Amino acid sequence: MQYHLNGFKPGNYQIPDSAREPATAPPMMALPSEVDVLIVGCGPAGLALARQLADFADIKTCIVEQKPGPMLFGQADGISCRTMEIMEAFNSSEMLVKETYQLHQNAFWEPDSEQPENIKRTHKVPDARLGLSEFIHGVVNQARLHDILLEGMENSVTHLVPHYSCRLLELNVDPDRSQDLDAYPVTATFERDYPAQSTQVETVKARYVVGCDGARSAVRKNLSIALQGDSANKAWGVMDVLLVTDFPDIRVKSFIQSRENGAVMLIPREGGYLVRLYVELGLLDRGQRASQLDLCVDDIIARAKLIMNPYQLDVKEVAWWSIYEVGQRVAERFDDTPVGNPEGLIPRAFVAGDACHTHSPKGGWGLNTSLPDTFNLGWKLAAVLQGRSQPKLLQTYASERRKVAQMLINADREMSALVATRPSAGNNAGQAKTCTADIEKFIARQNGFIAGTSIGYDLSYICTGADNQHLATGFRVGQRFHSAEAARLADGRPQHLGQLVKADGRWRVFIFGDKHSPVDTASDAYKLIRFLENDSASPVRKYTPEGADIDSVIDVYAVFQQRNLSIEQLPDYLWPAKGKYGLRDYEKVFQTEEGMDIFEQRGIDRSAGCMLVVRPDQHIANILPLNAQAELSAFFDEFMIS
Ligand code: FAD
Repeated sequence: MQYHLNGFKPGNYQIPDSAREPATAPPMMALPSEVDVLIVGCGPAGLALARQLADFADIKTCIVEQKPGPMLFGQADGISCRTMEIMEAFNSSEMLVKETYQLHQNAFWEPDSEQPENIKRTHKVPDARLGLSEFIHGVVNQARLHDILLEGMENSVTHLVPHYSCRLLELNVDPDRSQDLDAYPVTATFERDYPAQSTQVETVKARYVVGCDGARSAVRKNLSIALQGDSANKAWGVMDVLLVTDFPDIRVKSFIQSRENGAVMLIPREGGYLVRLYVELGLLDRGQRASQLDLCVDDIIARAKLIMNPYQLDVKEVAWWSIYEVGQRVAERFDDTPVGNPEGLIPRAFVAGDACHTHSPKGGWGLNTSLPDTFNLGWKLAAVLQGRSQPKLLQTYASERRKVAQMLINADREMSALVATRPSAGNNAGQAKTCTADIEKFIARQNGFIAGTSIGYDLSYICTGADNQHLATGFRVGQRFHSAEAARLADGRPQHLGQLVKADGRWRVFIFGDKHSPVDTASDAYKLIRFLENDSASPVRKYTPEGADIDSVIDVYAVFQQRNLSIEQLPDYLWPAKGKYGLRDYEKVFQTEEGMDIFEQRGIDRSAGCMLVVRPDQHIANILPLNAQAELSAFFDEFMIS
């Protein structure tokens, strides 16, 4: 898709440039007095959480934002492979896939050894993330991602819409009531600017609050959570521009090191014409903010021209620009319990996204870490609020996500130093070669982290089974289910199995059959299916409410190596009757096919098979042998409530 030819226009890219208009500010509504979950902030973290909770009819969610309406111009532009996978869990990846610039190549530029005042391309390489997911890293206006999440919320059963012009003033969590699950221990006070009225103060009581209110989070401050790490010492400029240029890699992500004037990172944007430039500006004094430098977009353009000499940059339009400083910090706690939570308290307030980790934007990790933060938290909140899981589940948010934030801070520190390294005057140009070569090595080494696909959680009662890792070497316990295709038995349609795991709070069990036909009643796969269906110890029987569809809590799929099966030979449980008419579900059984062999692709033991328990956020919770029925029950009994 091409757009922005005659100027940048925000809004829905499915509408042609000539007809596209930005949405008008939504009407203001009074805040509800009591809710289950209060979300502060409509950035990617807040919206991803709201999008997830909106699908639960029995959970009352309220999301507030201090700005008067949805975002038009985004900061973040990179949408990692993992974020794409999460958007697919919301059934919304198609739009992003269509609208994004897809990143296939990286180019590296350095001072020309013969004319060091000029830059010269050294090489181009395929992007190191290709092949890590069925999705490709994309670049699109963050506002578009927000739109898609907002649309999903509004179309959900709860028709959730944000309350805009609503600024958090004060937040209290009553310690005397915080361990009573039925209580509403959170009190939040907001300032509201209704048009043509004086400012009003409104109060909301909540069972849980999640601060997704960005780097200067009022929630974090009200909870007295300290940030640890370095403050900023370097200023960068960033701009999204439409320009005419003779720089040949204008449509390739490029790392450009000049000899004396600093570095530029160039990122082509969606629509075919727009380009983002990150431009190194200079060091800050201790305690100085980039905003105090008194620089404007013309200074960023002038510096970019110096760095990219001898190429011409004729900037026709600046869609958005900003000057920011780089600093890497992480919150000491991600919830309102004390560090380490020695008493095992139930958290009632959380911080997520930039509210608990800040870093430079060049790695493109901010949005791509913030959104998975709340993707981790959302299903846990829902499970506890619905009484399906014990509240201790909520403690795992901080332990799982704080480790990721720490990894992010370390990676960003390394990346920022590499991008800002340049040969000092007097050194020869060969030294610059080392800078871009180091960036390239860093990207290759960290590709799984940058893509978000290798991010894994430490072993715990919801990430276990490492002893059985040999049964499926390509599915790492704690990491996300790495999707691969299989053919649906009932109709032969190829299906990406990872895309079956939607953000609906359900657990999934994938049964990968062994060398024996599942039709054989002596096979382990057959016995497991019978156990799940009939045994009183079966977690499916124990945790599925009376009268609910059999897959409403734990959704079971089977994938077989045998290619001569037919659906009617298999137990009814694998094509169950559901819904008010008892219609059969034909979409639960798969088989391998020539060129579509998940056993091969993911290192599944063909002889023994295995079962894989997958969490509602698509991370692998457990790998078990097919005959480990008791262990499967024990796994769910650890935290579920029947
Ligand atoms: P935010 O996006 O900051 O959202 C917080 C929201 O809370 C805001 O809407 C704010 O108005 C609202 N809010 C704040 N205080 C209050 C209050 N008191 N009451 C009510 N509402 C409040 N990340 C990437 O992944 N890829 C990129 O390419 C990338 N590029 C970037 C470029 C730049 C120049 C910058 C500055 C950042 C970039 N980032 C990038 C980082 C990314 O934008 C952030 O990490 C991400 O937006 C964080 O999401 P969030 O939801 O945690 O917070």
